[in-house]
Amino acid sequence: MKPFEKPIYVTRPLLADLSEVNAAIQEIWESQWLTNGGAKHQLLEEELKKTLKVPGLSLFNNGTIALVVAIQSMRLSGEVITTPFTFPATTHVLPWNNITPVFCDVDEDTLTLDPKKMESLMTAKTTGILGVHVYGMPCDVFSIQEIADRYGLRVIYDAAHAFGTEIDGRGIGTFGDVSMFSFHSTKLFHTLEGGALTFNDPHLKPRIDLLKNFGIKNEEEVVMPGINGKLNEVQAAIGLINLRYLDEERRKRQLIVETYRQNLAGIEGIKVIEIPENVRNSYQYFMIRVTEEFGVNRDYIHTELKKYNVITRKYFYPLCSDYSCYKQLPSADPANLPVAHKIVKQVLCLPLYGNLKLDEVEIICSLIKNLKK
Ligand SMILES: *Cc1c(COP(=O)(O)O)cnc(C)c1O
Repeated sequence: MKPFEKPIYVTRPLLADLSEVNAAIQEIWESQWLTNGGAKHQLLEEELKKTLKVPGLSLFNNGTIALVVAIQSMRLSGEVITTPFTFPATTHVLPWNNITPVFCDVDEDTLTLDPKKMESLMTAKTTGILGVHVYGMPCDVFSIQEIADRYGLRVIYDAAHAFGTEIDGRGIGTFGDVSMFSFHSTKLFHTLEGGALTFNDPHLKPRIDLLKNFGIKNEEEVVMPGINGKLNEVQAAIGLINLRYLDEERRKRQLIVETYRQNLAGIEGIKVIEIPENVRNSYQYFMIRVTEEFGVNRDYIHTELKKYNVITRKYFYPLCSDYSCYKQLPSADPANLPVAHKIVKQVLCLPLYGNLKLDEVEIICSLIKNLKK
C-alpha cells in the first residue's frame, strides 16, 4: 500500500464557514465591546447550559485556568487524589494551588480512577478527588460520590474529553461539585482556546465569576486574589457558530467510529474501548489498546503508520506520575499504579475528525491488520 499523499493527523479543528465568522466579527466591531462578559459571552453561557444539560456554567479563556479556579472555588488544600493517566494540565493545577497530587490507579476497563483503590490513599490532609473522564468515558461517578460523602471530600472532574457525554440522559457536568470542559481547537467543540466550569450549586457562580475576573466585585471593591480567566467576544462568537455544526460533526464522527469498530472487530490483540449502553459517546477520541496477542507492540504500530503518513498519538503516554516533576512523590511509585503502567504501553489514538473519509478509515484499518504478527 502507498502512503497517503498528505498526513492524516489524529484530529483536525472544526472550521466553520469563514463568511459566518466574518459576519460575527463585524457585529463585535460595531458594538465596540470586545471582552469582559459581552453579549456573545452571555449568550454562549445560556446556550451551553442547554447543550450540556447543566444548571450552572461559567466560561473561561482555557480549560486549565478553569480547573485552577475550580480548585480554588472548592477551597481545596493539602492532598488531592487524582489519576496519573491524563493530560499534564490535570495534575499541574494541583501544585498551582499548593496541593500535593496523590496518584491513584485506574480501572482496567474504563481507564478512569479506580474507587476501590482510593481509600488506602486517604490521609488527614486529603480534601478532594480530581477525576478525568478520559476519552469521554465517565468515571465511576456513583462510587466516587459515595466515598467522597463518607470522607467529607469535594469532587472535581476534568471533563475536557466529555463534551456531550451523558449518563442515562444526565449531563456529565452535573456529577461531582464542579466539572471542567476545554474548548481548545483540538476538542470536538471549540472556541479557538477556551473552557468552562459547570456546577449544580447556584451559589457557586458569583464566586467563580469573581475568581476569573481578578476578584473585582465593583468599582470600589476587590474581594479575593482572582486571576484573568475571561473568554473574549470573538471566542464566544466562534463558539456560538460552532454549536450550529455540532450535531453534524457528531454524526460524522459516529460513522467513522462505527467504521473503525467494524474493520477492527475480531483482530486478536486489538481492543476497542467499550462505552456502556447508558452512556452517550462524546466522540472526542477513538482509542485502541494493543495487547500482547497482536504480536507487535503499540510503539511499532505508531512508527509504522507514520511511514504511511498516518499520525496517531500515544495519549496519554507517559503517565503524569512518571514526569520528572512528580516521580519522586510516594504515590508515583509504579507499585502503586500497576494497571496504569500496563495500559499506558497499550493505548493508541487513531485519527478522528468529521472530515476524515470512510475509505481513509478503511485503509488505516488495513494498514494496522497488515502489521499483525
Ligand atoms: C485539553 C485538555 C486539558 C487542557 O485544556 P486547555 O483548554 O487546553 O487548557 C486538560 N485536561 C485534558 C484531559 C485535556 O484533554
